[in-house]
Amino acid sequence: MDYPELLEEIFHVARAFVGKGKVADYIPALARVPAEKFGIAISLLDGREYVMGDADESFSIQSVSKVFSLALALHHLGDQVWHRVGIEPSGNPFNSLVQLEYENGIPRNPFINAGALVVTDWLLGSSADPTTELLDWLRAATGNPHIGIDREVADSEWEHRHRNAALTHFMASCGNIRSNVDRVLRTYFEHCAIAMSCRDLARAGLVLAGHGKSPRLEERFLTRSQAKEINALMLTCGTYDAAGDFAFRVGLPGKSGVGGGILAVIPNLMSIAVWSPALDSHGNSMAGVEALERFTTLTGISVF
Ligand code: GLU
Repeated sequence: MDYPELLEEIFHVARAFVGKGKVADYIPALARVPAEKFGIAISLLDGREYVMGDADESFSIQSVSKVFSLALALHHLGDQVWHRVGIEPSGNPFNSLVQLEYENGIPRNPFINAGALVVTDWLLGSSADPTTELLDWLRAATGNPHIGIDREVADSEWEHRHRNAALTHFMASCGNIRSNVDRVLRTYFEHCAIAMSCRDLARAGLVLAGHGKSPRLEERFLTRSQAKEINALMLTCGTYDAAGDFAFRVGLPGKSGVGGGILAVIPNLMSIAVWSPALDSHGNSMAGVEALERFTTLTGISVF
């Protein structure tokens, strides 16, 4: 496979979609990011790495962080995580309150906000400092000691917290949040505000391509089954209300965020990260989805 040539071609095709769609504007710090950015990085388990465009520029990974928070929770707590959060697609917006009330405060899956808030609550009960622990793992798995929190984004999320606060308080009323609600929210927002580049994300994603073992780390982080579970949830629930469309078009486990990043995994082979801030109506990066679709179409590699 001539990966540099492949990336050239993808870059060429995806460029037509760069800037189409709408940059997230629910907080000023995200609204300011230029729509015309585009980066792609692929990281193979054998150590090869190929990047193109703005692949080394850090951006707010937002909901892509839900993958890493879940991984850390499974690492610490194993299967008991699933006692308080489900594994089914929600078919509702990522920040919906309605379903949660019908379902007694048990979120459908860990990739909608309510689910990630429960995962965060689990983390607060199992780690003295989940944010530092998560950052330390990301730094080690990527070899980039500079990965950190964008404080402006985290503070801004906190200022505009009403909906996430409503979700968390409601779940607390059902007994499904055990830590202090504000602490859960602060920690959740810190994870959303982690700033990483496509290169970093692709490297971090190798833990899922490698069945729970990161090539840069001695110690296995997840069991093979846990890595499978996360990949399966990414495929079925990872791209908001468009998970069916994403699976149909791209055919890979993927997790997107409203910062415009998408992490995709090809088990046994590689992890791919794309970033372009302008989003489609579902909240997925327009050029990012296009690039991933082109990748699997041109290579013929997907999980199917
Ligand atoms: N920080 C966002 C929120 O909780 C997450 C947005 C996303 O889905 O990427 O509303």
